[in-house]
Amino acid sequence: MSKIPSLTLERNAVDTVPCVTHAKLFQHELLEEPSSASTAEQRRTLSGLTRMAEEICLNCPLMTNCLYAAVVRYDVAGYAAGTTERQRAAMRSKLGWRVTPENLDIFTGRTSGRQVEHDEVIRLRRVNPADSLETIAERLNCSVSTIKRHLRMERRGGTSGVTPRLKLVPPSKEQVITALHEVTGVLGQVRQLRVA
Ligand code: SF4
Repeated sequence: MSKIPSLTLERNAVDTVPCVTHAKLFQHELLEEPSSASTAEQRRTLSGLTRMAEEICLNCPLMTNCLYAAVVRYDVAGYAAGTTERQRAAMRSKLGWRVTPENLDIFTGRTSGRQVEHDEVIRLRRVNPADSLETIAERLNCSVSTIKRHLRMERRGGTSGVTPRLKLVPPSKEQVITALHEVTGVLGQVRQLRVA
């Protein structure tokens, strides 16, 4: 049974990145994969978790830059910058923009830029079911985030098939905030976000 982790929001006492301070919340399995909430209780739990994480992100001094990076530069896994993976994908679709998980790996220095083969991830998972995701990531010299993404893609039976019309020029921060507004319906707080 999923439980909401005990959490005290400390809006102005940010000694470190808020999502790191509240790692138990941001790494909660339901928040990482909202589609896994199958029972009414899990959905209620997910709703509570999402509200807490959203409040933390919207009050985070890094919010605007974090949102831009998570939408435009790196395909991070899980909940980030007040958005789920699905919401960020919808925002990219609106913006005509696409990023790959490997962008994040290059940024974190986990790979030389070689694309991680989807079939290789699935093969390693099948032949070594007891291995942790960290072990598989180490073998493929990529991030755990990338491994998770390939496994999810496999569970969902492949990509969505939606191919947005792509632009060559990255969207601006204003455009990303507008897309956030359109996709999540978060209104008041987003208007107050400063575009750095
Ligand atoms: S906005 Fe980004 S950096 Fe700030 S708490 Fe949310 S995920 Fe973390």
